[in-house]
Amino acid sequence: MHVNGYRLLSRSVSLMNKKRKQRKKKKHVTVGESYPVIRAVTHIRLLEVNPGKLAALDALAPVYLALCQQYITLFCTQEMPNKLRDPLYPTPLSERWQRVAIMQAAGIAQSWRSNRAAAYQQYQDDLKQYQNKQADGIRTTKAQAPWWREWNVPTLREPCIQANVNVVKLEASQDSTYDYWLSISTLSKGQPIAVPVKLAPYHREQLMDPKTQQMRKLNSSVQLNQRDGVWWLTLSYDEEQTMQMPPDAPVVGIDVGIANFVTTSTGKHYGAFHQDLRARHKRDRAKRRRKAKLRACLKKKGVKSLPSTSSRTGQRLIRHVKHEINHAVNQCFTDPEHEGVQFAYEQLSVASMRFKAKAQNAYLRASHLGHIPQQIIWNSQKRGVVATPVISAYSSQECSVCHYTDRTNRPDQRTFRCQVCGFEAHADHNASVNLSRRVGDRQLRACRDRTAIKTVLMQRHEAWKQQQGMGNSGPVKRRKRGTSSVFPSSI
Ligand SMILES: [Zn+2]
Repeated sequence: MHVNGYRLLSRSVSLMNKKRKQRKKKKHVTVGESYPVIRAVTHIRLLEVNPGKLAALDALAPVYLALCQQYITLFCTQEMPNKLRDPLYPTPLSERWQRVAIMQAAGIAQSWRSNRAAAYQQYQDDLKQYQNKQADGIRTTKAQAPWWREWNVPTLREPCIQANVNVVKLEASQDSTYDYWLSISTLSKGQPIAVPVKLAPYHREQLMDPKTQQMRKLNSSVQLNQRDGVWWLTLSYDEEQTMQMPPDAPVVGIDVGIANFVTTSTGKHYGAFHQDLRARHKRDRAKRRRKAKLRACLKKKGVKSLPSTSSRTGQRLIRHVKHEINHAVNQCFTDPEHEGVQFAYEQLSVASMRFKAKAQNAYLRASHLGHIPQQIIWNSQKRGVVATPVISAYSSQECSVCHYTDRTNRPDQRTFRCQVCGFEAHADHNASVNLSRRVGDRQLRACRDRTAIKTVLMQRHEAWKQQQGMGNSGPVKRRKRGTSSVFPSSI
């Protein structure tokens, strides 16, 4: 797991995590309720007014990074993450800096531990299900025994410092040349450096409160990132948001995928893992494989320090894909057609993510898919728009017209074609319509497993048949009836 790419790109994922933690006790914000949203102002480049100044920060970075990594490893392998842990490792850093490193490491280790635990639980569930099927003598041709590969401890690759006011102070500038001054403590005790901060017009626009026409109050903690030798600053501020929903707001379902990152029940697609990304991903995989070969070869020869198999281009690609995903989800939420609606999105399990990723020739690792729901939650919170996670089981196999649920309804990845009523549509679109209807579906939510869900769906299909006066016959010959143009919109 490469924490760094994740952290760096993050329009402050770290800040989001912090916020998420603050609200952990209460998972769902109810309509009409106000809550604080932390907004980040990113990509503020630290100026090199006089060359020597940032050198002190450059000198501090590797020391901090190494120490933080030590605590990450400790908190992932030997101890439970503890922000208040007594310092353990010798370091030239001041006690205040050590505390910052320990706190950051504890945060990283905490999320790594909970992600790993969730994945491991999923693996155990999969294994149990697989073993049950084997015991029952059910064996599908595609079924493979689930396997578990132990996760690596997260590695910090580039300096990322989540600093509090004890080590980095942000002060408003008195003259007009600069906006702020950062006072950063360094390795030399009592000799902090003062780095000027100049905001770009778009930063200033973002920081201007339209209601009061005044600059917003900034949070005291800041994030410093060094990438390719350049230092970047992330500032943040709190904003009050209210969860809003007009009465009877129509539900728009969101299906998550790789071919199309987001497909809505309104029939729109946003973002895609398109040709160019595919090619880049393929190149990266080939490169990684070559490196792995080289590594194995060197290892055989007894070489001690082996080259890493992760690549800079790979990291960049991950960042790029996440950026595309963010953009897609953003477009979906800001689409004028979606004004005044509420959203329903699929609650993806790790297993179904894996399935979806596999179905797309593993072009993307499941972690990327997991980024989409995260982004939906974030967009919902920051905009105050209701988005409800709904059960995703069989949403891609269920017919949105007659509820007939079967794998054979999916002749290929793109197409949905109902074996009973003949309804035909883009597969993701059909799924998103199903998802839009699952908000508040108590009968489905009461189901304990996938089998129970399928039973309910097939009961609904039977009811539909009764209604159509079709009685209890099996699948009828396919009649091509619907196309996506006459698709009943959920709105
Ligand atoms: Zn049907």
